[in-house]
Amino acid sequence: MNTERVIVVGAGIGGLVTALELSAQGVEVLVVEQASQPGGKMREVSVGGVAMDAGPTVFTMRWVFEELFDAVGAQLADHLNLAPVDVLARHAWSEHERLDLFADVARSADAIGAFAGAQASRGYLEFCVRARGIYRTLEQPFLRSARPNPVSLAHRVGLRGLPDLMRIAPFSRLWPELGRHFADPRLRQLFGRYATYCGTSPFLAPATLMLVAHVEQDGVWTVDGGMHRVAQALASLARERGASLRFNTPIASILTRGGRACGVRLADGDELLASAVVFNGDVAALGAGLLGDAVRSAAAPVAPARRSLSALTWNLLAPTRGFPLSRHTVFFSNDCAAEFDDIRRGRLPASPTAYVCAHDRGDNDAAAPAAERLLMIVNAPATGDARPFTPEELTRCEAQTFTQMARCGLQVDRRPEHTLMTTPQDFDRLFPATGGALYGQASHGWVASFNRPGARSRLPGLYLAGGSVHPGPGVPMAALSGRQAAASVIADRARARTSGRPSTSSSRPAATPGGTWTR
Ligand SMILES: Cc1cc2nc3c(=O)[nH]c(=O)nc-3n(C[C@H](O)[C@H](O)[C@H](O)COP(=O)(O)OP(=O)(O)OC[C@H]3O[C@@H](n4cnc5c(N)ncnc54)[C@H](O)[C@@H]3O)c2cc1C
Repeated sequence: MNTERVIVVGAGIGGLVTALELSAQGVEVLVVEQASQPGGKMREVSVGGVAMDAGPTVFTMRWVFEELFDAVGAQLADHLNLAPVDVLARHAWSEHERLDLFADVARSADAIGAFAGAQASRGYLEFCVRARGIYRTLEQPFLRSARPNPVSLAHRVGLRGLPDLMRIAPFSRLWPELGRHFADPRLRQLFGRYATYCGTSPFLAPATLMLVAHVEQDGVWTVDGGMHRVAQALASLARERGASLRFNTPIASILTRGGRACGVRLADGDELLASAVVFNGDVAALGAGLLGDAVRSAAAPVAPARRSLSALTWNLLAPTRGFPLSRHTVFFSNDCAAEFDDIRRGRLPASPTAYVCAHDRGDNDAAAPAAERLLMIVNAPATGDARPFTPEELTRCEAQTFTQMARCGLQVDRRPEHTLMTTPQDFDRLFPATGGALYGQASHGWVASFNRPGARSRLPGLYLAGGSVHPGPGVPMAALSGRQAAASVIADRARARTSGRPSTSSSRPAATPGGTWTR
């Protein structure tokens, strides 16, 4: 057993995955998390005494978790019950304009044909080929690689792969490229929405984000018991492999000695030493100095203008009528350009697009419980630290959101005591230094994808994992980043051992007044 402890700050998906992989390899791991539960954004809340997910709802890239569980000597199926969905999502623009996308591409093409004509159906099939091509070109050299840059990406793709790389139009913008496939503005709006999965406006996103559409086309699963079970499963498996997890334990700063990270100081003043620290919070917190001046330059600061989208969300327990909700339903704004223009200007959208997860529904389940569990999400600007929205602004956006849904037929009989709203300000409090941005830096333009830091920070001994780090946001991506952080810790230890240098500083930093050594 390697007794050189690694401290993981944050029990979000990235942090849990790092902890699991390291502990499975015999490393002593301590996870310290400020919240009372594992999962970070994959939170569970209680509304009207009923538990429900308040974060991610769409589980994709199952292979990421299969490979992870395999790597730690476990089987995904023994820990999580996943079921594939038939209807990827239901989309509505009005009472008479509805479109389902299916896991089966041919079925979706038929539905699009019936919705917008044969040309649209052909455009969709071409789009699918292109999105798949982008995904396949980038999976190995980008998603699975430690922090690529344009040169290393071209190098990894190799001479034979360069035509493929150029074919995916890496320098183009998403919105005009979508126009090549979809003349119908509703379809352009629908497929542009995938950019928001990375917290980016479809008008500013690079065309490569088409790969998100392919990821969803490749399979969406429901998780028995809710998405939060994924975090619980990772936490309990990490414990089984030997990791310790402490909740309700905020970290005030990361300690350094001799130019290396060497532990953490808890908010209560206790200091815990470690051979390496993995930070799973948003990297913006480092640059903002929230983890102490010593690690301020460990990652580049993130200017508010470069933040990804935030959200205004409602968890509800309420009866619904008038619209056949699917598990995932999207009610589209009737002015997509104005929606993102409002957000760019720091306003809540006057015409929001609302995503609704009906937790209790399957694909086409008309028989929902009398009061069903709902999560509604609208995009919002990440200004939670600068200018909290007034109650009037929040109430207006809520009314506009419900009006939008009513326009499509959905009536939600909501009661204030069975409604839990989360604002960008709340998200900023939960995920410090973000302003409520939920996906790290926005992917505005083709260079942005290369701006995310990799698993190794600029400070030796300090590693990074999570959705603000390469390869990007989303549950599977954060998991991949967690795997890369664990691999980097292990690789650096091995390298230090063979070179005879101490891999990690196990010597103590100078005691700080008020601090208590608890090593
Ligand atoms: C409403 C919503 C819907 C989403 N929908 C989807 C979806 O359908 N599918 C999908 O794949 N993704 C979705 N996402 C994105 C996805 O949830 C995230 O990308 C992913 O969960 C981020 O994981 P992470 O590793 O970055 O950790 P985070 O979830 O960011 O967690 C970081 C943890 O670090 C802790 N922490 C930070 N600072 C400190 C400190 N100083 N001391 C102690 N602890 C600290 C925090 O408390 C937190 O628990 C959604 C996100 C939200 C919010």
